[in-house]
Amino acid sequence: MGLCEELDMLKGELEVYARSLGVDLFGVADLTPARDFVAAQGGQHIGGFTRAISMGVRLVDDVVDQLRDHQDLVAISTYRGLYSAANSALDRAALMVAKRVQEAGHRAYSVPASSMLNNGRLEGAFSHKVAANLAGLGWIGKNCLLVTPGYGPRVRLATVLTDAPLEPGSQLPNRCGDCTRCVDICPVKAFTGAPFDASEPRDARFTASLCDGYTEGRMKAFGDVNCGLCVYVCPHGAKKRGK
Ligand code: SF4
Ligand code: SF4
Repeated sequence: MGLCEELDMLKGELEVYARSLGVDLFGVADLTPARDFVAAQGGQHIGGFTRAISMGVRLVDDVVDQLRDHQDLVAISTYRGLYSAANSALDRAALMVAKRVQEAGHRAYSVPASSMLNNGRLEGAFSHKVAANLAGLGWIGKNCLLVTPGYGPRVRLATVLTDAPLEPGSQLPNRCGDCTRCVDICPVKAFTGAPFDASEPRDARFTASLCDGYTEGRMKAFGDVNCGLCVYVCPHGAKKRGK
């Protein structure tokens, strides 16, 4: 068997395995075009990986739909639990997939679903969204989240970085169009409404400190979870529910 066939087989096996662990979205990104961005965010070690295996878990619609009332304690508490459960499922899937990649003789580096660096920039060591976007799982919307064709932004993501030269996917076009629902609904107006542009910093589209401040202000009443309105409102996630 040639190298290409071996790698195709490995990719197929990894997808089947990831799906058996509860993963709904699976793709491979070529990180080469984002190398400088990745290294600037997470350092040279992380920046040295050439591929990202991107995995997503779909959230539960009825729980997300409750966020229309983001002042409701039951709605927010249930959402917080869902968020945490999705992250746990992803972290386990990332660990298991990373071990499989390692067993196949390649480097593997699992990046947890949610791990903020304590550096004041309100970001993690690696952008799961960038990997998922490059893998073709969705586009980056005006809400600065990955928006998938099937589930909108109602997904959580994790990544396994590797040097295995797996066949990457292709990016999807941005389908936000003229929609501004997420921009309009945000209670602290954290989004500028500018479409995603990889050459611009996140600040051109999103003031993360506004969202963070709003979450902190609600912490005593609702716990450590954001209001989720920009997830709830996106028509690409709600379309199957007739909203
Ligand atoms: S989670 Fe809420 S406060 Fe934060 S950006 Fe989204 S809508 Fe705005
Ligand atoms: S709500 Fe509209 S503008 Fe915002 S991410 Fe979804 S499609 Fe794009």
